[in-house]
Amino acid sequence: MDAALQLPRRQLVALRLRLRKLKEEREQAERHWERFWRPLFSTMAQEHIVHVCEEIGALDDGERDYFSFSALTRHVLGMDGAARWSTLQGPLALPPEVAQVYLDDRDAWAAHDCEDCGYPVPVRTGKSLQRYFERCPLCGGRTGYSAYYLKHGQPERQGQEVAADAEEDALLAALLASVGQEVAGSVEDRESSPTAAEPVPSDVFAASGWAGVSV
Ligand SMILES: [Zn+2]
Repeated sequence: MDAALQLPRRQLVALRLRLRKLKEEREQAERHWERFWRPLFSTMAQEHIVHVCEEIGALDDGERDYFSFSALTRHVLGMDGAARWSTLQGPLALPPEVAQVYLDDRDAWAAHDCEDCGYPVPVRTGKSLQRYFERCPLCGGRTGYSAYYLKHGQPERQGQEVAADAEEDALLAALLASVGQEVAGSVEDRESSPTAAEPVPSDVFAASGWAGVSV
C-alpha cells in the first residue's frame, strides 16, 4: 500500500500545500530569471558576470557579507531588489564600461541618471563629485541627478515593470485562492463528518512551513 495513503488527511493537505509552495517558488524564480537575470547578463561581459556570481555565491554560503562586496555586486543586488519590488528604473543593462566603473571604484553608486532613457549611471559623491558618464552610455542623453524626472516628470518608464508585476500578483492571487479553497474543502469534509469536530486547521500552515509567499 502506498505510504502516503496511510497519512491522516491533515498531513496530506499539509504535504500538498508544501509541494504547491515549492512549485510556486520554482516558477517564481524562473520568471525572475527570464525577466531580470537573463536580460541583464546578456548585456554584461563574461568576467563581470563571473565576478558577481562568485560574490553572491559567497553571500549565500555565509562566507562574505554584503558590505565586503564590490560596488558592482552591490549595484546588481540593488537592481535585483528593485526588480522584485517593481521599482527598477531605466533600461536593464550593465555594459562593460559601466560595470568596470563599479568594479574599480568601491564608492561608486547610481546616483545620476539619463534624462532621455532614465538609465542610472555611477558617480562618486562626497567632498567632490566624480562623474564617470556625462553622456548616457546607452543612448547618449545627458546625465545628472534626477535628470529623467526633471525632463519628463513622473517616470512612466516603470510601466513595463509594474505591468509584469501585476501579472505576477494575479498568478499569486489565483494560487492563494486555490490554496484557500483546498483548506476550506478539508474543513468542510471534517465538519460534514460526525467524527470530525475540529475547528479550522490553522496548524496546517505551520506544519507545511507556509508563511506566505515572498515577492
Ligand atoms: Zn540614456
